[in-house]
Amino acid sequence: MKKCLNCNHEFNSESWQCMQCSYEPILINNFLSFAPELAQENEGFNPESFALLAKLEGKNFWFRNRNRLIIWAFNKYFKQAKNFLEIGCGTGFVLSAIEKNFPQLQIYGSEIYSNGLTFASQRLKNAQLLQMDARKIPFMQEFDVIGAFDVIEHIKEDEDVLKEMNNSLLMKGGVILTVPQHRWLWSQADEYAHHVRRYTAKELKNKVESAGFKVLKMTSFVSLLLPLMIISRLKPRKPNQQFDILSEFKISPLLNKILEIILTIELILIKMGVSFSFGGSLLLIAVKVK
Ligand SMILES: [Zn+2]
Repeated sequence: MKKCLNCNHEFNSESWQCMQCSYEPILINNFLSFAPELAQENEGFNPESFALLAKLEGKNFWFRNRNRLIIWAFNKYFKQAKNFLEIGCGTGFVLSAIEKNFPQLQIYGSEIYSNGLTFASQRLKNAQLLQMDARKIPFMQEFDVIGAFDVIEHIKEDEDVLKEMNNSLLMKGGVILTVPQHRWLWSQADEYAHHVRRYTAKELKNKVESAGFKVLKMTSFVSLLLPLMIISRLKPRKPNQQFDILSEFKISPLLNKILEIILTIELILIKMGVSFSFGGSLLLIAVKVK
């Protein structure tokens, strides 16, 4: 079902025009735009980062490994899903992997920045892409699965987002979430990325359960690289040195390959049923129970 963000009327229709108040979302760059006032920029992310991301993520061990983990989780827990919404789809790197692995799935992607959607539309064949604010999702009981991969840590009102995800899911529908973990890993990289927080496992679980979900699986990942993450954060920085986000990507192809192999081993362990307690990130899979 669609939900009118102007009057909250819920309706079934091909068109997005509300059957009660006639409100209709406008188009920005040909994308339906549900939060046009936020489309260009807000405090959550630096929109210029999209061009950079689109160039780098396909080669980078971290993004490649996260895609494999997400595809595994989707296949294991939600194989029967007919449709899927990714919130904060960015340049569409995850969605394009999902589209490739689940060709029958009806795919929706949303992003607060319409310029992210421009990159995504070039990568995706059949996805419906929407500009929207995750705190106000224009659907009710519509989706089998919703994913948000390293998104909710950017949003102050993360609990509202989880509640909106719950409302937008069919009963027994599921969520797949990834977030950065451990408050003590907080660094300049988090500040540059406009993170509001890094999560603890307990905090994420509590927030997800309060929003009406039952958690099926939770594990840390990027666990085997945690020692390296700690060392990189202890390295002293020159005073007044400009933080360079590219430094996170500026690793030699050889090191990139080695790190990818380590994370491939970690993924094999996760697939065998291991749940790691510590790691740079957290994966959570849950289903809607109320
Ligand atoms: Zn309306």
